[in-house]
Amino acid sequence: MAGIDIQRNQPTLPMQGIPQPTREEVLNLPRLSISTHPVIAHKLMTLRDKQTSPPEFYRLVKEIGSLLAYEATASLALETTTIDTPLQTMTGYRLAGGIGVTPILRAGLGLAEGFREVIPDAQIWHLGLRRDERTLQALEYYNQLPYQVDLQVCYAVDPMLATGGSAIDTINILKRRGIPRLSYVGIIAAPYGLLRLSQAHPDIDIYIAALDDRLNDLGYIVPGLGDAGDRQFGTY
Ligand code: URA
Repeated sequence: MAGIDIQRNQPTLPMQGIPQPTREEVLNLPRLSISTHPVIAHKLMTLRDKQTSPPEFYRLVKEIGSLLAYEATASLALETTTIDTPLQTMTGYRLAGGIGVTPILRAGLGLAEGFREVIPDAQIWHLGLRRDERTLQALEYYNQLPYQVDLQVCYAVDPMLATGGSAIDTINILKRRGIPRLSYVGIIAAPYGLLRLSQAHPDIDIYIAALDDRLNDLGYIVPGLGDAGDRQFGTY
């Protein structure tokens, strides 16, 4: 994450000297939902623990993904439908339109798997982004977004909302697909990234499991859990 300060020929720290909002300043953002589910809180403590091994870490990301999916889908639109039970015909409800999940590679993969446990027929739209350090533009190095779009909602999923750059770029890309409703779902957010995402995209819902204190000079969330990609896939 660090670059080089050409004039002094010294490494630069991306968040050094950058002012950050406090937790209290972002807690009441209008479209923010921070889970209060005790099971999520419990699993999150094991996830944060540095002793947790990659297989257990991945399993927990997936399980928290399922629980967050359950919360994030609570307000989805329904439509009426008629079926035959073995006993009689009845009218009830089904989801009105498809659901998409966009894991931001690679850390978003575990969360997307958790979503699939709850919504097996969700479309998974993989997206890999890299930032051009010179222009700060997002470069898509991997994109499996379909051309035909028939979704009622798409969830961009990434466990850590740090500076907010990838989340903002992902929502920009998804907005160009004309999906009526977009949400971001993550596990831990820093106030800095949360504020940037909600200012860039005030029309999306944001679901997280925890709001931490700040970013350190390197851009890691503290207290956080370290690198969510490396910890899921064992690439320390
Ligand atoms: N990405 C991570 O995986 N961890 C952080 O703390 C910040 C960004």
